[in-house]
Amino acid sequence: MNSLQLYRQLTKRLEEVSDCAQFESKCLLEHFLSLSLSDIYSEKEINDDLSELYIATEKRLNNIPLQYIVGKWEFMDCEFLLNKNVLIPRPETELLCECLADKITPESVVYDLCSGTGCVAISVQKLSGAKVYAFEKYDGAYEMLLKNITLNSCAVIPVKFDICKKPDLDIEKSDFILSNPPYIRSEDIASLQKEVLNEPLTALDGGNDGYLFYRAINQNFMPLLKNGGYLAVEISENQETEVINIFSSLNHIKTIKDYNGIKRVVVFRKG
Ligand code: GLN
Repeated sequence: MNSLQLYRQLTKRLEEVSDCAQFESKCLLEHFLSLSLSDIYSEKEINDDLSELYIATEKRLNNIPLQYIVGKWEFMDCEFLLNKNVLIPRPETELLCECLADKITPESVVYDLCSGTGCVAISVQKLSGAKVYAFEKYDGAYEMLLKNITLNSCAVIPVKFDICKKPDLDIEKSDFILSNPPYIRSEDIASLQKEVLNEPLTALDGGNDGYLFYRAINQNFMPLLKNGGYLAVEISENQETEVINIFSSLNHIKTIKDYNGIKRVVVFRKG
């Protein structure tokens, strides 16, 4: 079999579970056989052992997300290691990293709450040179956060902490707080895409009404935001009004829509 035949065969199988089967089979061939797209189209004879590729394909056909299978993903031009303990970084979360880019300086202190892979904390640190603290509660996710800080050789400060608690931490106040917290309503979880159901529930479930973590941020972290400081949070569709309500002690500055026209990031200023 040659590379193009294999690519076509794989794509056909992945069409069962994916709307972008061609892209996914390209990623799998790149990851498991180091084939680039031009290698694929050059119709190279394949003599490699394909067992790992076939195991990976079966996993994908069982709705395991491609990102967990290849174990890494790109976000804001950086690479992040992934496993089932962390949420897969989404393209729309790049808006959260970029929304205050013109204001965050190397002198700024930034918190990223619910850090997961650390994709927000690490990208913002690299982009701005700021002092960034990354808060994460769960052991498995915290471990990935540490790995990603090392992989990206950046000076993000990891803090193992549950943001639903009042921080009695001896920590300096922040100029910026960023967060992409879990925001799906508990009862909506079951109807999510099968792939998403393979992501950690703790990274998705925003409690009965979906706003649990916005309230926790408001109660526990607003005292740690300096006057004149900014808060930016990612939200899901239709959450803007209630989130503005929750952070009523702040000034709503703007709401940014994502590439699908969905209101996705809400930005506030304290004072
Ligand atoms: N901050 C991480 C991200 O945006 C994880 C978010 C989460 O676990 N809810 O991808």
